[in-house]
Amino acid sequence: MDRPRVGETVRPGDAGQGVIKNAMTRIGRTRDDFPAALKRVLGERVAYTCSNPDCQRVTIGPHSSHDQALRLGRAAHVCAAAPGGPRYDATQSSDERASISNGIWLCAICADIVDKDAIRFPADTLRAWKARAERSILELLERGLASAAHTQKASAASSIDRLEAERLLHEAFDMIAGGAQTSRLGVDLQLTSFSGEFGRMSGVEAAWDMQR
Ligand SMILES: [Zn+2]
Repeated sequence: MDRPRVGETVRPGDAGQGVIKNAMTRIGRTRDDFPAALKRVLGERVAYTCSNPDCQRVTIGPHSSHDQALRLGRAAHVCAAAPGGPRYDATQSSDERASISNGIWLCAICADIVDKDAIRFPADTLRAWKARAERSILELLERGLASAAHTQKASAASSIDRLEAERLLHEAFDMIAGGAQTSRLGVDLQLTSFSGEFGRMSGVEAAWDMQR
């Protein structure tokens, strides 16, 4: 298709309209979109995972065509790129609006949801998501997935010391013997948790059954 020449009328639907529109966007920017390089960095900073803590979906992976990748991620605006958009902030300059600090990496679904319900997802919430997602990814980057999982397990195990567990169980029996009915639910929950953690404490569990 030929580009429209100077003086030529461009009607809606003409192939040349896109050229004109792009030129207008460059001259008098109507939307403060992110440059492609910035979008890539936004995605990379969270390892292309969705920054919504309740989602965390991986947004890039293998396509069934062996030479392609499947991409579900979006570089979303915290405050909208154009007036009337979700969370639009008129006090932002054009450059601020198109800067990386105004972007957040989300999966396609979350990007849609946060824009369709901006009241439920204000700018501060999105900024908090972004900071949290980047912290998590940094931890994985520095320590590795296996290491992070191992540390979590180890800290969970050490936080419930066996002696401490026994002490609490004795305390629980005393409370039951003393007829502390109001504490019963709490005691029950504690015992359930300990029996999960120390499944082999059969003697103590048997004693608990007799007490009941
Ligand atoms: Zn998501």
